[in-house]
Amino acid sequence: MKSVLNQDRTERELLIDKLRTLLGDRLSTNDSILQQHGRGESWHPTQAPDAVAFAQSTEEVSQIVKYCAASATPVIAYGTGTSLEGQVQAVKGGICIDLGQMDQIIEVNNEDLDCKVEAGVTRKQLNQHLRDTGLFFPIDPGADASIGGMTATRASGTNAVRYGTMRENVLALTVVTANGDIIHTGTRARKSAAGYDLTRLFVGSEGTLGIITEVTLRLYGLAEAISAAIVNFPDVRSAANATIQTIQMGIPIARIELVDRAYIQAINDYSKTDYPLRDTLFLEFHGTRDWVAEQVKLFDEISQEFGASGFAWAEKEEDRSRRWKARHDAYYAVWQCHPVVAAMLPMSACQYPDLRIALPKPNRTLPRQTCIHRYSAMSVTAIFTSPYLSIPTTMKCSSLLWRLTHAWCNAHSIWAVPVAVSMALASASSNTCATNTVMAR
Ligand SMILES: Cc1cc2nc3c(=O)[nH]c(=O)nc-3n(C[C@H](O)[C@H](O)[C@H](O)COP(=O)(O)OP(=O)(O)OC[C@H]3O[C@@H](n4cnc5c(N)ncnc54)[C@H](O)[C@@H]3O)c2cc1C
Repeated sequence: MKSVLNQDRTERELLIDKLRTLLGDRLSTNDSILQQHGRGESWHPTQAPDAVAFAQSTEEVSQIVKYCAASATPVIAYGTGTSLEGQVQAVKGGICIDLGQMDQIIEVNNEDLDCKVEAGVTRKQLNQHLRDTGLFFPIDPGADASIGGMTATRASGTNAVRYGTMRENVLALTVVTANGDIIHTGTRARKSAAGYDLTRLFVGSEGTLGIITEVTLRLYGLAEAISAAIVNFPDVRSAANATIQTIQMGIPIARIELVDRAYIQAINDYSKTDYPLRDTLFLEFHGTRDWVAEQVKLFDEISQEFGASGFAWAEKEEDRSRRWKARHDAYYAVWQCHPVVAAMLPMSACQYPDLRIALPKPNRTLPRQTCIHRYSAMSVTAIFTSPYLSIPTTMKCSSLLWRLTHAWCNAHSIWAVPVAVSMALASASSNTCATNTVMAR
């Protein structure tokens, strides 16, 4: 695949001229804008695109993609750049399409509990818009990501245990495919088995199949009562067992996240909190007042069986938000603890039996330096856990990173990790092509 980097100057200038004629000053080649769009929130070094196009409509996105297709130029969609695996790096240059100016909430259907938004709307913007309707959009990956980016990454977050992930909550899409065609997938109807499920094909496709420009989403009624709790456990396994039993008993818990004691230390240091240094569950219950009280009672009984202590409840919105903010900032908290860390890999889920991963043990398969940082925590959404592996700066070499992460994966039977890691490494290497890129043909 020929990219703009391999094209001669005239060809590249021609493309940029065409895009400038289409977009005016919404086509930027300003260096700071390019740099800003050349990385997300991950550890990967910046790889800037050749230009950034700030699109304002589906038709504009279509035209940009058509121009790029004609010159086989890579196209990279950009939402808010909060992704953690190096997805937005322009490893072969190309045109970044920033969807941030496509921020219209097109319709909200209160009775049908759905809405249609442009891809650049952020989840906080949507919930702000919905605040007087009694409805809300529950998917909360921590960062204030765009709905288009969340759809593209099939985002989940702390509410996933009750409300699912983007996969369960995207009903329909408008997408510009790699040749610039505009297609519509899905409908607002909840019950339809007709035809291919193209919506689900695009959800999680990370920009490889097309650029999402509009998204129809499910909404939910705001609960009458919400109660959040923090509960300490003697060890990670007890916390995990309490979680499993809670879910097996059908208690419709809204959020449940396991944070081990090392992570708590990092959170306390970063967010200036004083949570006890214990393996801890962060939880939230939603429902009517009576129903929440019942859920709390049942959870209390279960967790006592596993040695829980130090229940701390919060009902006021500001108190709950403060807790979840501390939890969401944990990624930055771990970075702050290890300014010398070169790489931090949020690894895909490993299942319950591998929760032992959370208990750092000396491991012969991993270099000693890594073990030092391996404490860097884990989180649990229901019975799945996503540990972070941090790698010190002394190990920048990608082949070592590769061996290291494979050793880690093998040692702990983490499924899907090689995918996450190979993406990270692909982005780090200038010879490979990031999976995020729509390779226009
Ligand atoms: C502190 C922190 C905590 C996080 N916690 C979680 C978590 O718990 N769960 C979770 O799932 N994620 C989590 N994330 C990751 C992040 O929030 C998601 O990756 C987010 O969904 C990305 O949205 P974005 O708008 O920032 O997309 P970007 O980062 O801009 O893009 C991400 C990818 O999607 C593609 N893309 C973006 N917009 C479009 C579009 N309109 N059409 C097609 N492709 C597109 C890009 O090309 C890229 O490949 C966390 C991030 C941070 C910083």
